[in-house]
Amino acid sequence: MTTAVHKGRFAPSPTGRMHLGNVASALVSWLSVKSRGGKWLLRIEDLDPDRSRREHSLIIEDDLRWLGLEWDEGGTDGIGYLGPYSQSERGQIYSEALSKIEAAGLTYKCTCTRAEIMASQAPHESDGRVVYAGTCRPQRLGGSLPNEDERRHGVTRLVVPDREIRFCDKLYGNQSVNLASHCGDFALRRADGVWAYQLAVVIDDALMGVTEVVRGSDLLLSSAQQIYLFGLLGYPAPEFGHVPLICNSRGIRLSKRDQSMSMGELRKQYKPEEIIGMLAGTLGLTSTEKPISAAELATQFSWASMKPGAKIRLEI
Ligand code: GLU
Repeated sequence: MTTAVHKGRFAPSPTGRMHLGNVASALVSWLSVKSRGGKWLLRIEDLDPDRSRREHSLIIEDDLRWLGLEWDEGGTDGIGYLGPYSQSERGQIYSEALSKIEAAGLTYKCTCTRAEIMASQAPHESDGRVVYAGTCRPQRLGGSLPNEDERRHGVTRLVVPDREIRFCDKLYGNQSVNLASHCGDFALRRADGVWAYQLAVVIDDALMGVTEVVRGSDLLLSSAQQIYLFGLLGYPAPEFGHVPLICNSRGIRLSKRDQSMSMGELRKQYKPEEIIGMLAGTLGLTSTEKPISAAELATQFSWASMKPGAKIRLEI
């Protein structure tokens, strides 16, 4: 009997330089698999053609290497045989998977404008989430497949069930999400043909053999959408672990616009061990913020020592 390889992944969108929050996710993902003797995969999530740039993915790779977070598989030029590892090159794979879901009669085309969606959702979600009210959902599902013309128009939405999806996050514990009230029927493909993150991420994690998904806690509840899709496509769901978001001194979640926390600035002022030590102390992985290398931290990593706060304020 062969034992399946334990595999984690980091899946950055190459839309700019990484900030400390992105580094926190990459670090915990790397530590979690390396502490279990597993492999780490790097996937470039460049689905959005307007915002993704190859030069950003090359800089992200350089920053990861500088931090000591080497990957075993994937990357812009793809090490390994489960690629391509850039989502922009995987359209055919997504198209085949979508056809299976369409054939099961679980999708429909939606032509609502953003303004219509905003107007029809009630009440508005306080966290900025948009819940699709199902305006374009046909009365009877399971009808004919969309023809070529219909395929090209409108957003392809997936019908979601009105029931709880349960999972246990490595840091945040038991979660229960009803997709009907959390997001409603969600998009698998944009009207302009661009693949939706939710579809691509599930197909890629399944086909690339990922057993553990670790990323920022802003995506905690998206895991329920993904677990539903893994089931529909007949794949086992991976384990999930989410990492608290890092905020700036004003308590606002870091974005790629926070230049002072971007790797470009951090590399001018700190050594890799200093950045990792600071993050490890802040996340609760170590009791001090003393400099430490990623490799050394892996020998003492445990999810149990991490603090599950929703946000962590870091002042540097
Ligand atoms: N591409 C996403 C991001 O950069 C991460 C998605 C994921 O890890 O599932 O925020």
